[in-house]
Amino acid sequence: MSRTSQTAATGYDPEAVEAKWRARWAERRTNEPDLDRAERPFYNLMMFPYPSAEGLHVGNMFAFTGSDTYGRFKRLQGFDVFEPIGFDAFGIHSENFAIKIGIHPAELIPKNIANFRRQLKRIGGMFDWRHEVSTTDPAYYKWTQWLFLQLLKAGKAYRKEGAVNWCPVCKTVLANEQVIGGFCERHPDTRVEQRFLAQWYFRITEYADRLLANLDDPSKMDWSASTAAAQRNWLGRSEGAEIDFPVSGTEEAIRVFTTRPDTLFGATFMVLAPEHPLVDRITTADERARVDAYRAEAAGRDVVTRRIGDRDKTGVPTGGTAVNPATGKAIPVWIADYVLMEYGTGAIMAVPAHDERDREFAEKFGLEIVPVIDGEGRLVRSGAFDGRAAEEAIGDITRWLEEMGVGSAKVEYRLYDWCISRQRYWGPPIPVIYCEECGIVPVPDKDLPVLLPPLEDFRPDDSGISPLARNEAWYYVACPLCGSRGRRETDVSDTFLDSGWYYLRYPSSEFDDRPFDPVRTRKWCPVTTYIGGNEHAVLHLLYSRFLAMVLQELGHVDFEEPFPKFRAHGMIVKDGAKMSKSRGNVVVPDEYIARWGADTFRLYLMFLGPFPEGGDFRDEGISGPRRFLDKVWALVGKAAEADPERPLLIKWHQTIQRVTEDIEELKYNTAIAAMMELVTALRDAASAPRAVVADLVVLLAPFAPHIAEECWERLGHEGSVFDTRWPTWDPALTVAPEIEIVIQVNGKTRSRVSVPSDASEEAVLAAVMADEATRRFTDGKPPRKRIYVPGRLVNLVV
Ligand SMILES: [Zn+2]
Ligand SMILES: [Zn+2]
Repeated sequence: MSRTSQTAATGYDPEAVEAKWRARWAERRTNEPDLDRAERPFYNLMMFPYPSAEGLHVGNMFAFTGSDTYGRFKRLQGFDVFEPIGFDAFGIHSENFAIKIGIHPAELIPKNIANFRRQLKRIGGMFDWRHEVSTTDPAYYKWTQWLFLQLLKAGKAYRKEGAVNWCPVCKTVLANEQVIGGFCERHPDTRVEQRFLAQWYFRITEYADRLLANLDDPSKMDWSASTAAAQRNWLGRSEGAEIDFPVSGTEEAIRVFTTRPDTLFGATFMVLAPEHPLVDRITTADERARVDAYRAEAAGRDVVTRRIGDRDKTGVPTGGTAVNPATGKAIPVWIADYVLMEYGTGAIMAVPAHDERDREFAEKFGLEIVPVIDGEGRLVRSGAFDGRAAEEAIGDITRWLEEMGVGSAKVEYRLYDWCISRQRYWGPPIPVIYCEECGIVPVPDKDLPVLLPPLEDFRPDDSGISPLARNEAWYYVACPLCGSRGRRETDVSDTFLDSGWYYLRYPSSEFDDRPFDPVRTRKWCPVTTYIGGNEHAVLHLLYSRFLAMVLQELGHVDFEEPFPKFRAHGMIVKDGAKMSKSRGNVVVPDEYIARWGADTFRLYLMFLGPFPEGGDFRDEGISGPRRFLDKVWALVGKAAEADPERPLLIKWHQTIQRVTEDIEELKYNTAIAAMMELVTALRDAASAPRAVVADLVVLLAPFAPHIAEECWERLGHEGSVFDTRWPTWDPALTVAPEIEIVIQVNGKTRSRVSVPSDASEEAVLAAVMADEATRRFTDGKPPRKRIYVPGRLVNLVV
């Protein structure tokens, strides 16, 4: 494991080189663009990490190196690249870890951050440390609170009591996105429960249309297809109709949303969510006891499991009926927990003949099944609509219902409003005061930030009330309006509110009197390229988009999409298996960097596979990239004034083209492979021409910045390699010359075709078969045999 054994052969000493250039970059402010005067601003953003106690893991390193490589490439192309980094340091992850090891997060987090900072410097990221932010810094969360108040004042935030997912271990509410198959995402053994709490919500559902429309608009969004698809699916748009079913013997009606109004004539019963407000009035005396028992039981189950509905169907009849407005028939009304109050109207019309879930329910409970679509997709038993193609009749049936005053066309989304309340300690207090006289009073801007009070015992308990309520001196406060004793909101906000706007803070981090400076923001935002993990497709990326839309409406920013270009990176596995502590196969970056150097580690990570797909980290693989850097080091020592011979000249220009095009598409592994080929060609050549070696060093710089700087200096240049320009290629040298292939039919020369000299056999044969004269001599029939003499002729035997 000794470092010197790795370096003796060539004299390349990564540790010395990397320490030297880390110091130089800091001293010369190499990575600090002039944010006010930059002419070609390029905002290169990566997803900021949450500072865990374990330090940066290899997945972070992979993501950051991929993003940094792109940023450095853009800088060499002449852009003023701003590449900030910070810490997403509030939130349950941090707090739970603090609880586990028994150290207060206020003490633990700064230590973690210091360690992350050290690691981030060690890997050689082009970070502008002047603009580091941490979401736990009062100078930051003052503005997170300001943002909440902006939404509150604009009517985009509201308080509501409702059913929520509650993790009994986290002792807090979870977003639906954080419940995986009925279990807490952080506690896979813990079933999530349902609770009723008053919480703060943001009206993201009002923006569902825009959030979806922009995703489908290539002039606004250029996103990895997988990310856009995940978000589209999460938004869950469906078109249909709202239909009212009058409740028998009352003035009330049960409203349902259906995507299939064409099947209305087949609706033979209805199902309400157990919490539906009409249940009490519909339930008959005979069924009351069963209904009450069922409702009590359903209240204990979490929302997500109920919605998945893959378990056995349960339900009870209310004894009441409603009238199908199409058939005029009274149909029974049931309650079942697979219908949710939070989704749609909390009631469904059941069409058991044409809906799988409804059919299971009907079969289990012996309810009527009436088919209304025949084998050819035409309507039957549907009155005036009989014989119509079902799908085409949707519009007419909806209009018919509209005329009768019992229905209307409607678009629904699967998206819920964003619940931002967390009954925890480690977050920004929601800046609201409750006054007996004045009601909900926003904390005045001048009183921000509402500091998170020190609290010795910060652990959550089972009461559903945030630990902040225990600090009475903090909890009771004079009402800003009337001066009487008010109470502070004791919930903190969701960590996704912290990360929903951090990209706006980076360029303006030095301003204390504004969250983001208008001029800076216009210059640097929206973000030019954002690279991150697909696990954030539906939370962080969706919430950030929503917040930008609100800020635009309020006149704070002049764009609605914060990340017009987003690229998702892949995942790293170890020896073919997912990395985990229990498997004991976690790659600890520090150990590899200490042994091989940051440049080799970076290069290896980028060489593992296509960046958007990820790769398999194998210890034996890292020596290849290291040997490659040793060769580059040696070539720099041999560089001499000489003209490259023709084959090297062509290889040189082809390499520039391939590396340029591959980096632009984040195909870092093939870009590195191209450079390796050039190194082989240079070693095989009679000399190592200085111009070729210099270009190689520049091409390598985005991947292995320290050694590139050192080589650049050894080649006699002053200043940073990142102040030079990316090399260009001569297209005349990168296109393979054409050669002529003779075409024979049964041994007689009949024609000739031109193909590129490096064309594959397949490509040559395709060109031959496409030739006009060939087709004439073979009557267009496939030949019995094709003989290819590479680079010369093809003989077709017919
Ligand atoms: Zn949990
Ligand atoms: Zn008051």
